[in-house]
Amino acid sequence: MNDSPAPGAGRYAPSPSGALHLGNLRTAMLAWLFARSTGRRFLMRIEDVDRERDAGAAAGQLADLAAIGLDWDGEPVVQSDRRPAHDAAIERLARAGLVYECTCTRREILEAPSAPHAPPGAYPGTCRDRTPAEQRAARERIAPRRPALRLRVPEGTRPPAYEDALLGHCGGTAGAIDDLVLRRGDGAIAYNLAVVVDDAAMGVDQIVRGDDLASSTPRQILLQRLLGLPSVPRVTYAHVPLVLGPGGARLAKRDGAVTLADLAREGIDADRVRGVLAESLGLAARGERVDPAALITRFDPGRLPRSPWLWSPDAFRA
Ligand code: GLU
Ligand code: ZN
Repeated sequence: MNDSPAPGAGRYAPSPSGALHLGNLRTAMLAWLFARSTGRRFLMRIEDVDRERDAGAAAGQLADLAAIGLDWDGEPVVQSDRRPAHDAAIERLARAGLVYECTCTRREILEAPSAPHAPPGAYPGTCRDRTPAEQRAARERIAPRRPALRLRVPEGTRPPAYEDALLGHCGGTAGAIDDLVLRRGDGAIAYNLAVVVDDAAMGVDQIVRGDDLASSTPRQILLQRLLGLPSVPRVTYAHVPLVLGPGGARLAKRDGAVTLADLAREGIDADRVRGVLAESLGLAARGERVDPAALITRFDPGRLPRSPWLWSPDAFRA
């Protein structure tokens, strides 16, 4: 018998929507550094349920991550293969009375009067309290469109609080969590559900990702709890600053040579990209070529920059 706890795991979970750019690569490097510097496994998951699939993109993304020196344990998990587990989780919530059908269009949601202090776009609860007969009628009214499934967030639920390694104390604020979508009208599993179910199944206890996703975290913690899955404080979070382009907006491919392929065409190889990313994290000197193992030794989450990295093409001029 071996009752020593299995080592935890970190992960990187890209959506295969095209080549990774420097911002994605930097987030991946951070997720890898957090995991490896704490003796965790590092796992990869292809999040191909929420967006259009691009069969070639996932392979290219993995090749780019390997090229900058990241490694991971085992085969990447393909999220669309996990559908039975996603359906089972929804079923479990439904048995607890926590799921209902929503026939609203996006527009109806935006135009409905919202609860006081609810953020724009928050679901106003239109379909929450329908009788079975009303539900049937609503379903027939929208056919052939299909209803979405929403979580019936228990009355009085506050956004759960958590300690973020970079953002500090998060969540726990006044205000409610709205009834989030679990399965969309087109049948696709919603991001929040898939991520929670898959992270738990993969043994992920350290979630490092871009800080644009921080606002989803309280909902995900709520789902973990309702599903009886490991949650905070056992599961830890670090939401890392994004990379901004010259215009001050989140770095995008239109900002210039920002993918490994673009950069290679300008004579900048993956080792150099690793060096520049490391420099942006305070882990390497300007122009230094640094091998991946050295980065793990130098890594100290307490000393990471807390503000976005302002990228410009000058970053590659040593
Ligand atoms: N697939 C998401 C993205 O590429 C990341 C999900 C996560 O890290 O929780 O934005
Ligand atoms: Zn609705």
